[in-house]
This record gives sequence, C-alpha cells and structure tokens, in this order.
Amino acid sequence: MEKEALRKELKVSAIENGTVIDHIPAASVFQVINILNLSAFENQILFGTNLESQKMGKKGIIKVRSKFFASDEINKIALVAPTATLIVIKNFEVVEKKKVSIPDKVEKIVKCFNPNCITNHEDVPTRFQVIDKTDLKLRCHYCAKITAKDSMTFKS
Ligand SMILES: [Zn+2]
Repeated sequence: MEKEALRKELKVSAIENGTVIDHIPAASVFQVINILNLSAFENQILFGTNLESQKMGKKGIIKVRSKFFASDEINKIALVAPTATLIVIKNFEVVEKKKVSIPDKVEKIVKCFNPNCITNHEDVPTRFQVIDKTDLKLRCHYCAKITAKDSMTFKS
C-alpha cells in the first residue's frame, strides 16, 4: 500500500534518475535548498512545501534530477531536516529508501559558533561531537563551546 502511494506521488513529476528528499519539515525546505547549494545546480529540481502528510501534518519535498548525495551532504540534510527520508531513483525505480540520521560526529560542514575559535581564524577544519540529537547541540573539539541549532551556520 505504501509503495503504491509512493508511486502515485512520484508519478506527478517522475524523475528517471536522481534523489527525492521527502518528509522535510515544511519550514525547512528552503534551508535544505540553501545548505545543499541547489540554487547553483543545473539539473532539474522540483520542490514543494506545506504538502499534506499523514505523518507530519505538513511536509516539504525536494526532487533533484541526476543527483545522488554524498555522505557529507546527507549529514547536512540530517542536521536541518532530521525527519527527512532519502529516496534514490534509478530508471524510474526506487532503488533505495532511507531515513537520514544525525551523526555522532560532525566534521567540516558546520562553522563553530565561537568567534574566537581557532577554526574561525586558521585553516583548521571544524570537528564537533554531537552531544544532543533531539535539541541539536554540537560541542567543538577545539574550544569546547556548544553550537546549538539556532546558531548553526554551514560552510559552503
Ligand atoms: Zn570552536
């Protein structure tokens, strides 16, 4: 039944090859587009927000043609849209469907909140331990300061 519903949904704007990011919190769709730098992407992108969802009430969805996300990118998605599901499509078939998960460690992709941190002054990649996955909090390996969800910015 679920598969049939999914097929119906994909039919609306089927992609031959690519990735569908589903179950994005409705308020986070544009943030996901930004952190993945999709505005600079040249292939077809379809997105919707405030779509009805049985699970979430309202959700967002992004379909990116001919794009398969790398683990760094998937970690970024997980940090801003922890409810997201990635659906990988090849030849119009769903070949993989997985929920994103917030990693235990976050490297390079997030900036440290502390302006005095070495990572903001020297060419040192950031490293964080995720100390709270529900109310997202990252502890910097270098300065031990906590970067929380509200103050999180991403490296491009
Ligand atoms: Zn730091």
